[in-house]
Amino acid sequence: MTEVSFQSVAYLLAALLFILALAGLSRQRTAKRGNYLGICGMVIALAATVGLALLHADAVLVSAGLMLAAVVAGGLFGVFKAKHVQMTEMPQLVALLHCFVGAAAVLVGFNSFLMEPGGYYEGQMNMYHLGEVGLAVFIGGATFTGSIVANLKLSARISGKPLMLPGRNWLNLFMLIAYVALIVPFGNSVGVEEGLPYLIAIAFVSFALGAHLVLAIGGGDMPVVVSMLNSYSGWAAAMAGFTLGNDLLIVTGALVGSSGAYLSYIMCKGMNRSFTSVILGGFGDAPAANETAEKRDYGEHTEITAAEVAALLKKAKSVVITPGYGMAVAQAQFPVAEMTKKLLAEGVDVKFGIHPVAGRMPGHMNVLLAEAKVPYESVYEMDEINDDFSDVDVVLVIGANDTVNPSAETEPDSPIAGMPVLRVWEAGKVIVFKRKMGNAGYSGVQNPLFFKDNTAMLLGDAKASVDAINEGL
Ligand code: NDP
Repeated sequence: MTEVSFQSVAYLLAALLFILALAGLSRQRTAKRGNYLGICGMVIALAATVGLALLHADAVLVSAGLMLAAVVAGGLFGVFKAKHVQMTEMPQLVALLHCFVGAAAVLVGFNSFLMEPGGYYEGQMNMYHLGEVGLAVFIGGATFTGSIVANLKLSARISGKPLMLPGRNWLNLFMLIAYVALIVPFGNSVGVEEGLPYLIAIAFVSFALGAHLVLAIGGGDMPVVVSMLNSYSGWAAAMAGFTLGNDLLIVTGALVGSSGAYLSYIMCKGMNRSFTSVILGGFGDAPAANETAEKRDYGEHTEITAAEVAALLKKAKSVVITPGYGMAVAQAQFPVAEMTKKLLAEGVDVKFGIHPVAGRMPGHMNVLLAEAKVPYESVYEMDEINDDFSDVDVVLVIGANDTVNPSAETEPDSPIAGMPVLRVWEAGKVIVFKRKMGNAGYSGVQNPLFFKDNTAMLLGDAKASVDAINEGL
C-alpha cells in the first residue's frame, strides 16, 4: 500500500469512528462508548497525519520534537481544564476551545498562503485556492474573536449586557461587503506582496465582525451563541481542510459544523425563539411586557418545611422531580439521587421530567443525573411526561423556574410566551425549591406557579433542603 492510500484508509477509519462517536453521544446510555470511539478516531487521525508528515520532513527529529511538544502542551492543558472545570462553567470552557479552532483556521490560512502564494495552482485553480484561504481566514477570524467575547461574557469578566451600537445591523452588513470587496482582488492576486495586504485586511474585518456580532447578544443568549460558534468552528476547520487538501479535516469540520447548527436549532425550538431573534440580541432585557407582569398581583405564596415535605413524600404514590439550573448551582444531584433511592425503596413511583433547555446547556440535567447514578429508566423527556402530571401526587421543582412557568402558555405578552413548559401545576401538590422569592429565573420574568393554591415554596439552598428531606425520610 502506498503512503497516500495508507493515509486515506486511516482517515476513512477515523471519519467512521467520529460518526459512530456522535451516534453514541446522542444517548446517555451509550455516551461513554461514544467518547471512547471519538478518542480512538482522534488517535488514528493524529498518528496518520503526523506519521506521514514526519516521513517527508527534512529534519525528522526537530519536526518530531516540535509536534510532540505541541501535542503534550495541548494535551496537558486539556486534561487540566477538564479536571478543574465546574459543570456550570462548561459553556465558557467550550467557548474558549472554539476560539482555538478559529485561531487554527486563521493560522492555517496564512501559512498556506505564505508557503504557496500563487505558484502551487495554475490560473483559475489558483483563484479557487485563494478563495478557500480567504474564506477560512474569514470564518476562523470571526469564530476566534466571537468565542473570546462569549467566554468573557459567560465568565462575567465583561458585562453580559448586549452592546447596542446605533445602526449595528448596517455595520455588520458593511463588514460583509468589505469582505467581498477584499476577497475578489485577493483571489486575483499574484504573489505574497500583492495578496498579503488583502489577506491581513480580511483577517481584521473578520475579527471585528466576530467580536461585534457576539457583543450585541445578551449574556443570557450566550449558550445558543456558543453552539452557533461551535458550528462556525466546524466550518472553519472544514475550510482549513480544503486549504490543506486534508479530507479528514473536511469531513470532521462538516460533522461539527452541521451538528452545531442543529444543536442551535434545538435550543431555539426549546425556547420558542427564532434563530434570527437570538442573533439580533436583546433577550431578557426586561421588556415592557415583563414589567407589566412584575407589577401584576399574583397573591400570596405558601411556604413549607423540609420535614413537612418528607412527610408528604412518604404518603405519595407517585412523585415527579423536575430539576433546573438551581440543582446544578447547588450541586444537589447527589442528595436528589439518594432521596430517589429512599423513595423507590418505600415503593413510591419516582420519575424525572427533563425540559430540553433546563439548566444552561443542552443535556445539562441528564449529565448531572447520570453523574449521581440516577437510573436512566426513571428519566423522561418533557414530551414523554407532560400529559401525565394530572395523575401525579407530588412534583418537586428543584431549582427550575422558566421551564415550569405557566405564563408561557397563558400570557401572550410574556417574553417566554409560546415556550413549551413542563405542566407541573396539573399535579396534586407542587413543591418549589429556590433560595429567595424575589429572584427570577434566566429570562427575568415572574412565575405565577409560585402563587398557586397547590404550590408550596421550600426556600433555601437546594442541596441543604434535599439533605434535610433525606433526614426526614
Ligand atoms: P432558571 O434559570 O429559569 O431558574 C433557576 C432557578 O433556580 C431559580 O428559581 C433560582 O431561584 C433557583 N436557584 C438558583 N440557585 C439555587 C440554589 N443554590 N438552590 C436552590 N435554587 C436555586 O432555570 P431553568 O432550568 O428552569 O431554565 C433554564 C433557562 O435557561 C431557560 O430560560 C432556558 O431558555 C435558558 N437557557 C437554557 C439553555 C440550555 O441549553 N439548557 C441555553 C440557553 C438558555 P433563586 O435564585 O431564588 O434560588
